[in-house]
This record gives sequence, structure tokens and C-alpha cells, in this order.
Amino acid sequence: MNIATSQHLFEKAQHFIPGGVNSPVRAFRAVGGSPVFIKSAKGPYVYDEDDNEYIELINSWGPMILGHANELIQKAVYDAIQHSFSFGAPTRREVEMAELIVSMVPSIEKVRMVNSGTEATMSAIRVARGFTGRDKIIKFEGCYHGHGDSFLIAAGSGAVTFGTPDSPGVTKGVANDTLTAPFNDLEAVQTLVNANKNTIAALILEPVVGNMGCVLPADGFLQGLRKICDEEGIVLILDEVMTGFRLAKGGAQERFGITPDLTTLGKIIGGGMPVGAYGGRADIMNKVSPAGPVYQAGTLSGNPIAMAAGLTMLNYLNDHPEVYTQLETSGEKLANGFKASMRKLGLNYTLNQIGSMYTLFFTDQPVTDFPSAKSSDLPLFGRYFHAMLDRGIYMGPSQFESMFLSTALEDKHLDTIIAANEESLKEILS
Ligand code: PLP
Repeated sequence: MNIATSQHLFEKAQHFIPGGVNSPVRAFRAVGGSPVFIKSAKGPYVYDEDDNEYIELINSWGPMILGHANELIQKAVYDAIQHSFSFGAPTRREVEMAELIVSMVPSIEKVRMVNSGTEATMSAIRVARGFTGRDKIIKFEGCYHGHGDSFLIAAGSGAVTFGTPDSPGVTKGVANDTLTAPFNDLEAVQTLVNANKNTIAALILEPVVGNMGCVLPADGFLQGLRKICDEEGIVLILDEVMTGFRLAKGGAQERFGITPDLTTLGKIIGGGMPVGAYGGRADIMNKVSPAGPVYQAGTLSGNPIAMAAGLTMLNYLNDHPEVYTQLETSGEKLANGFKASMRKLGLNYTLNQIGSMYTLFFTDQPVTDFPSAKSSDLPLFGRYFHAMLDRGIYMGPSQFESMFLSTALEDKHLDTIIAANEESLKEILS
């Protein structure tokens, strides 16, 4: 495959941008080689600077549920930009957006818009601390909640991809306030809570993890956490930046029947524009400034263009339940195809899949937490990634990421992915 233009751009980028990229995983360091620079995308396809076409499994790390450059969203953005790009003042669309989110996610009674998932999680723990008067939080090993200092402790996604789940620059004081537990281990959480009575403000987790690869909660895990939080007065925060509006209309919390106190949302609610939000119980959210004393603000928050894109997408999802039927069917078809290929090739790798999220882990162990995710053969994943890329499949360039399907993927695309997977597995093992 000719990626000469991408290679040239990457060389140049490294002179001006740290590592040549604006977010670490994009650099392909975990899989080797030079990243492809994307020029455009439409529906299920992305195109690089050398005009190679790929079937899209990253989908901007989640938000492109309806595929790229969806015409309804395009039109909404086009209409919105006629009226300028930012006001830094309240707008009608923000009210409509808040009302829509509250109607789609029953645990959210009030919601505040921000500009990224990172801002959403940072703000959510601040308000949890303000509400409880406590300092510590619990997070799970391998979960990623953006790059706020408090979360860069045993963090997943790019942090683990680069071997820096604990980042320099995070002060000891901040690190001391973040307690970590293994995912899917209720006993460990109970032990932590018992040892830190009346000091834990919040427990935050990805209800389905996307950031150590796709890892599902064990039966009863989420309910068990809810119970512990209730008993100890801890604010339960579900980080649905990846799962919100994707795993069900009301997110993973609807799918697993769990009611958090706060929810964090991100990129999906902007339809691809830079957006985040946090919301939940009114008594907690009423602590946020100017209703209450917990300060949080943003010049670009509720940006009118982002709101136009997000509202259009969420309204579409709200009115078209068949989106979720399609995402389920596509996810199952892909998983069945991958499993059939592995049976045929005598392989026993672990495929974790739920709805439109999946990760093929290059390990024979069930992957239920961070250590089991890390038992994967990372060099083998790197070879698989490149074998898939050569066959025109654009995947997240790390074992510790989930893939995301969109409704733009038709049966023929899924068949192509399944065939490419089988050929790639054969190639890397030959
Ligand atoms: N929370 C989760 C679960 C995420 O997956 C991410 C990003 O991938 C974030 C928070 C941070 O969001 P952002 O990259 O928009 O800051």
C-alpha cells in the first residue's frame, strides 16, 4: 500500500507537534509503522492522504454511530454556521439538548454541557467532592476517564498503550486521593471502602470498559457497586463517554438496569463535534455554579454548532429504535464470523463483544480485567493490525482499544471485515 504522503506528513509533524500527533494513540507506536493521515470520510469509509480507502472501525473512537458525514447532521451544522460559531451566551438549543438528554437517560435530572469527556469526568468528581465533603475517589485499573490528573493512575487507553498508566506530572497529593481496584472485583472494592471509611466521595467506572479493550461487567458487578455506594454514601459515577447512546438509547445503564448518581458523556453527544456533559441527581447537580458553590465554567460550553450536530444525532437515535437493532445484529454477525474463522483455524483467542463494541484479544484467557487484558500477545496484535490495514480495514492501533461499528456498515462490509480477519490471522500465524 502506498502511504508516501502520510509518511511525509508524519515526518514533518514530528518537527512541530510532540510525537507528531495531537493524541498519543494516533502515532501507531503500539503497532509500529507510520500512521495514516486521514483526509476525508463518508458513511462506512475513511480515505487517507494517498487516497487509500478503508472500512471504518474507529469511527472517531465512538461518536459516528450513524457513519461519517451523515447528511442530516451535515445539514444541521451548515444551517447553524449561518448564525455564527460561538456566542458565550445561553441558547435555545442548549435547553433542547438538556431536555432531550434528560428524557433519554432517566438517571439524569440535570445536565451541564462541557467540551470533552475529560472535562466531564473532572467536573463530575469535583461536584461529587463538593457534595460529600470528602476527598478520595475510587477508579478501576485499566479504565480511562480522560487525562485529568486524578485519573492518570492505573489508566487504560493510550496511557497503558505507552506503558505510562501513571503519568509524571501528577502530584503525590492528587495520586494519594485516587484509590484503585481491579475491575469486576467487588470484594476488593469493599475492602478499600472499609479501609477508607467516610473519606470516599465517588466511585467512577466505565460500565462496559472500552479502554483496556472491550471488557464486560460480570453478572451482579454493577449492582454490587450500587449497593456499596448506597451503604457508604459514595457518589456512583458511570462514565458513559463511549457507551452512552451506543449500547442502548439510555446507554449501558439502561442495558444493565443500573441507576448511577452521576453520568459522564462525551463525543457521542456532539455527533463528532468536541462536546462532553455531566449530569445526574438534581440534588447533586444543584451544587454546580451558579446554582451552588462548586465552580465549573467554559467559554465554548454548549457551543451552538456542536449543539446543532449533537441534537440532530440524538433526536435521530431517539426516534429510530431500529438503529439499535441494526447495531446488535451487526455486532453479532461480526462476532459469529470471527468465531467461525477461529474454529476453522484452530485458534482460541478471546473475543469480547457487546452490541456494536468489540475487541479481539490475542490471549487464550478470558479477559475480565486489566491483568487478563495485558496477558495478550502485543507484538502479534501489531502484526494483525497491519495485516488488517493492508486489507483496507481501519482499526484502533492498540490491543487496549475497543472497535466501534456504525449503522453505515452493511452486510457486504461486515463480510469483508470477517474475510479480512480470517486472512490476517492466517498471515500472521504462518
Ligand atoms: N471517558 C472515557 C470512557 C473515554 O473513553 C474517554 C476518551 O476516549 C474519555 C473519558 C475522555 O474523553 P475526551 O478524549 O473527549 O477528553
